Amino acid sequence: MVDLEKQYDVLVVGGGNAALCAAIAARRDGASVLVLEGAPKFYRGGNTRHTRNIRCAHDAATETLTGPYSEEELFDDLLRVTGGKTDEPLAKHMIRESKEVLVWLQEQGVRYQRSLGGTLTLGRTNAFFLGGGRAMLNALYDTAEELGIDILYDAPATAVTIENGMFLSATVTHESKPHQVRARTLVAAAGGFESNIEWLKEYWGDAAENFLIRGTPYNRGSVLKMLHNAGVQETGDPTQCHAVAIDARAPKYDGGIITRLDCVVFGVVVNKHAQRFYDEGEDIWPKRYAIWGRLVAQQPDQIAYIIFDASSLRLFMPSLFPPITAGSIRDLAGKLGLDADALEKTIGDFNAGVRPGTFNHADLDDCRTEGVTPPKTHWARRIEQAPFYAYPVRPGITFTYLGVRVNLESRMLMADGKPAANMFAAGEIMAGNVLTKGYAAGIGMMIGSVSGRIAGRGAAKNARN
Ligand SMILES: Cc1cc2nc3c(=O)[nH]c(=O)nc-3n(C[C@H](O)[C@H](O)[C@H](O)COP(=O)(O)OP(=O)(O)OC[C@H]3O[C@@H](n4cnc5c(N)ncnc54)[C@H](O)[C@@H]3O)c2cc1C
Repeated sequence: MVDLEKQYDVLVVGGGNAALCAAIAARRDGASVLVLEGAPKFYRGGNTRHTRNIRCAHDAATETLTGPYSEEELFDDLLRVTGGKTDEPLAKHMIRESKEVLVWLQEQGVRYQRSLGGTLTLGRTNAFFLGGGRAMLNALYDTAEELGIDILYDAPATAVTIENGMFLSATVTHESKPHQVRARTLVAAAGGFESNIEWLKEYWGDAAENFLIRGTPYNRGSVLKMLHNAGVQETGDPTQCHAVAIDARAPKYDGGIITRLDCVVFGVVVNKHAQRFYDEGEDIWPKRYAIWGRLVAQQPDQIAYIIFDASSLRLFMPSLFPPITAGSIRDLAGKLGLDADALEKTIGDFNAGVRPGTFNHADLDDCRTEGVTPPKTHWARRIEQAPFYAYPVRPGITFTYLGVRVNLESRMLMADGKPAANMFAAGEIMAGNVLTKGYAAGIGMMIGSVSGRIAGRGAAKNARN
């Protein structure tokens, strides 16, 4: 029974993976815990609802993972995607802790399954949630309730009172009324600001109006902003976000995983002037899929079209919407609203540049173009077999990297460099400490689970003292 008059040991703001891991860890260490989830119950769980897997270090194969994945290898993967820009001691600490997290999550009711085949080959490195992110969350919520954690839905934190790095209370708006909630410690786990278009516009200009948000509309960065305003140190580059190319017909929010398009490497991508703008075959898709959101964001009106022919239709995972199809490139241009002469010329020039090679979609093959700008360096095949297909794509923002700075205990650091007295952060709101740019699948959930568990334990200890 939620009692908003009572002083809790730990107040957790947020209702996704990081929040639940923090709440459960704190409760298991004896703290009284209140979770404030800004979303209504049906939408609880933020972006975690859309996830499928988690990347953690492990020493040996398990029932669902096909082999070991050492701390060093995971750290190397992180260095590669971030270009070496990470808080190294924190990243190494979290990776070490990640080795316990797979089992710990299982102890909280989460179940895994073997990786199925698909575009991203992750069977050794990433554990897949049985039933996906929503089932994972349901398990964590069930455990939280069994442990006696109080949870209030439809309860966004709208203000925080912080004095000299000491959290005193939060204002929560519930059933249209503001309430003051007091707690001995705070764990902020309220995600990034990816669904706040006005805030995104500060870095992207009006282009952000055309972005689609792949996840929850509730991650508006309000808690992040309150913490920055209260003197908590910033971390991460505000212009950086994980953005992929998704079907332009997807809903503005919450389209999730099924609107992502993985067929870029099999065709060409043109902008609204029917011009190609980037090497579609630069590298294997798992290494490159996360650059295409930004590439499309830089095109006029933030729209592009993946164009391919009948020979490629069965080579990739189908997505939610069917491709637009026509018997000729000219008719396809008509259906897409593109200049037909321009599209025919682009496809004609591309086809003329394709050199003979042995097509192998599973490897960096020798099928490439010559004399075409930009080149297509692998998997280049002539687009000539009717029917022809197209998907319209827009930038799909997954999450942002701006956050609050934390130390190894996941305790927030104030602008003067001193640790906050009683404030911890977990998940996406602090991911920018280790994930400065780029992304490797499954790292978001690793950061959330590990930092959540560390923050929850730290918060319980802090409340005791
Ligand atoms: C389509 C999609 C697929 C993804 N797939 C994967 C994957 O397979 N593996 C992976 O590792 N990562 C994946 N990610 C990234 C992953 O979702 C995030 O890294 C992870 O969910 C972050 O967890 P979190 O708890 O920090 O944030 P979230 O799960 O987003 O939770 C944030 C919570 O804060 C709440 N909130 C926001 N503001 C307030 C407020 N003012 N007051 C109270 N509550 C508030 C929200 O309602 C929400 O419950 C995916 C993301 C998307 C969008």
